[in-house]
Amino acid sequence: MSLVEVKNKKYPIIDDLKVPEDVIQSWQKNIDLLAKIVDVPAALIMRVHSNDIEVFLKSYSKGNVYKNGEKAMLDTGLYCETVMDSRSELLVPSATKDPDWDCNPDIELGMISYCGLPLIWPNGEIFGTICVLDVKENHYSKQYRDLLAQFQQSIQLSLQSIYNENELLNEKRRTRSYLDTVQNVLIALDCNGLITMVNPAGCRLLGYNKEELIGQSWFQMCLIQPDGMNKAYSVFLKIMSGNLESIDYTENTVVCKDDNYRFMAWHNSCLYDNDGKITGMLSSGEDISDRHEAEEALIAAHYEARRASKAKSDFLASMSHELRTPLNAILGFSQLLLLETKLDDCQQKNLQEVFNAGQHLLELINKILDLSKIEAGRIELLLEPVDIESLIIECMDMVHLLADENRISLINNGFEDIVIKSDRIQLKQVILNLLTNAIKYNKSQGSVTLGMELVNSEFIRIYIIDTGVGIPPKRISEIFNPFSRLGFKNSEIQGTGLGLTLTKQIIQELGGSLNVKSVEGTGSTFSVDFPMKLLLASNQEQA
Ligand code: ADP
Repeated sequence: MSLVEVKNKKYPIIDDLKVPEDVIQSWQKNIDLLAKIVDVPAALIMRVHSNDIEVFLKSYSKGNVYKNGEKAMLDTGLYCETVMDSRSELLVPSATKDPDWDCNPDIELGMISYCGLPLIWPNGEIFGTICVLDVKENHYSKQYRDLLAQFQQSIQLSLQSIYNENELLNEKRRTRSYLDTVQNVLIALDCNGLITMVNPAGCRLLGYNKEELIGQSWFQMCLIQPDGMNKAYSVFLKIMSGNLESIDYTENTVVCKDDNYRFMAWHNSCLYDNDGKITGMLSSGEDISDRHEAEEALIAAHYEARRASKAKSDFLASMSHELRTPLNAILGFSQLLLLETKLDDCQQKNLQEVFNAGQHLLELINKILDLSKIEAGRIELLLEPVDIESLIIECMDMVHLLADENRISLINNGFEDIVIKSDRIQLKQVILNLLTNAIKYNKSQGSVTLGMELVNSEFIRIYIIDTGVGIPPKRISEIFNPFSRLGFKNSEIQGTGLGLTLTKQIIQELGGSLNVKSVEGTGSTFSVDFPMKLLLASNQEQA
């Protein structure tokens, strides 16, 4: 039941709030006593409604002409209406002598004197009046009027407790409807871990009805044993004894009635009594089983991928060892045979083919092994100060022969005197790969230019520009795929299609990035950016 404010013409009233039977009985005693003490035929408690006013309680006194439940329309010049309007006492000693009251309807009932006070709900709305009426002229002494005021106070106190109880009831109903609506599980435990409250969502999730859960041990009934009682319960007891203020967030698995498990995320808080003593715990739980399963599957997939990758690396490492031993024999013996002068030209040519193919195979094996090492995260970087200029000159020296063979000129654009912190061997491999490509995929009498520049305050760039065949812009991303050689698969230009895959990965491991710009038929620029903080760190180290 809620308070319905019925709009009275003059004032809002609470019309649907019932006065409990025990209160009515005590009021009855009051007005009977009042009538007796003041010695009048009628003492009344009146209650106002939207259009009329009702005799709510009449005193059982001699000569009382009023009946309980009797109603009179408003706006008819009633004594009580004036009291309610003015919210103050009305004293009419003799209506017949008073021109203001000589038409009062109560005169017809023989009631010619009146003294009344308003009765007001604690929220300020009118309940009605308490009044005494007499058949004769009556000036109602101050004593009697004080007594009437006392009764008024006592009735208003009752109204206050009726009102408050109703508010409390409404609050309870509201809370209950929140609990019912909420989709999260809400569970309250007492300080022994017994369930004192569970909302419908909790019942639905656990598969029990409320009666089955209330009073049961949460830890024994709904958690996996023995952890439920051993671990979770002892943590809970610590909280109850005030050792831990609260455990805001927990995750655990609950066991439902059908023996299914659900994985839950809980937000917990302690419950306190008025003295601040901990009386229990309130937990709001969300079923995160699906999310949890997905996470577990992801972790499992991750482990599986790592395991597979490790197995692959192990396989490749042992395979490459097994392959390299006979391959080295093939390479060694074919080299020896190449020194043999008795072979004719055709035999020499064939033998050279064997040697070249063997070398290609060796290169392939080595690169696959390097790649698998990086992919398995097994590359170990040895960071040390690396002088860029000397490293580049070293690389240029190493590819000089190849450049000469292909009639490519190598141009050094100049390098700043900068030392970076890097892995020398890996960095050298990066530059050698890019340099070799720039020569291999160049045109006869072309050039390869090497240089260095500061990109901004954070990055330094090493670039290699060639005047070669270039790469179609749409296919640039392909060149980093393993075994991708674009149009050079069956060409005379030797290669494995693994160089750039490896190069890009190494650069990433070194904290840098690789960029490519290319114009088909004109040439390409490969540039590698390294973060400057590495440089600063290494320069400081040097200092
Ligand atoms: P490989 O050189 O062994 O074929 P890479 O991974 O080093 O393998 O390069 C992949 C492909 O990218 C090459 O086959 C080539 O088609 C293309 N490419 C690489 N560098 C250049 C370059 N500087 N100019 C033109 N094309 C290039």
